[in-house]
Amino acid sequence: MLAPVIACLAGLAVGSFLNLVITRLPRGESLALPRSKCPACGRPILWRDNIPLVSFLLLQGRCRSCGAAISWRYPLVELLSAGVAVALWFRFPASPLLLVYGPFAAALIVITFLDLEHLWIPDLITYPGILLGLVYSLIFPHLTFAGALSGAVLGGASFYAVAWGYLRLTGREGLGGGDVKLMAMIGAFLGLRSLPWVVLISALLGSIAGGLWIIAKRSKAAQTPIPYGPFLGVAALVYLLWQEKFLLWGP
Ligand SMILES: [Zn+2]
Repeated sequence: MLAPVIACLAGLAVGSFLNLVITRLPRGESLALPRSKCPACGRPILWRDNIPLVSFLLLQGRCRSCGAAISWRYPLVELLSAGVAVALWFRFPASPLLLVYGPFAAALIVITFLDLEHLWIPDLITYPGILLGLVYSLIFPHLTFAGALSGAVLGGASFYAVAWGYLRLTGREGLGGGDVKLMAMIGAFLGLRSLPWVVLISALLGSIAGGLWIIAKRSKAAQTPIPYGPFLGVAALVYLLWQEKFLLWGP
């Protein structure tokens, strides 16, 4: 029972780092230095106030110096990362594939929250991600290189076609270039056979969320862009964790 606990703690620590990336990447700040500061009062955050999850609970979600509310995103990303780490451990116990899917899942979490907060999926993550997915297929046995390459090319191309068609038909941008590159990255990591499932699951989640959004916001919803990256991220994780069940019915 020790291994899942270690996976959980590692997930919390990684989640803390992912929060740093999500906060600093849009501002163009260095990931290494300087120390984290409270965005409200500018005071450096003490190490004991920076313990994943624990500090947020002890401080009741407020800065020790000025009392400003700390974003719910911090504990959420930490909790999510821990949950995904434990799920990956149970899915691939002690497998070298954790070296493939761990970084992949981390990238999906970062992209999901950047897209939610800034409607932005950075090339800085997707381009190296596509390359890494292809290189991994040459080293690890989870995919053939042909499967990864065709997944990346067809994933990207199919989303590019949908984005182009939507723009031509409606005059509005439905899917952004970031979604196209994200789909190519997912194809490179999960392979050609994952694509129909990832598209299906993300579209299903997107329709449910879009419907709820319209009910919540009434008529204003039509003008509010809804990021698609989070649905792709969740769909890719769902497929990754349960792919054998999907492939029972699949092509
Ligand atoms: Zn403060």
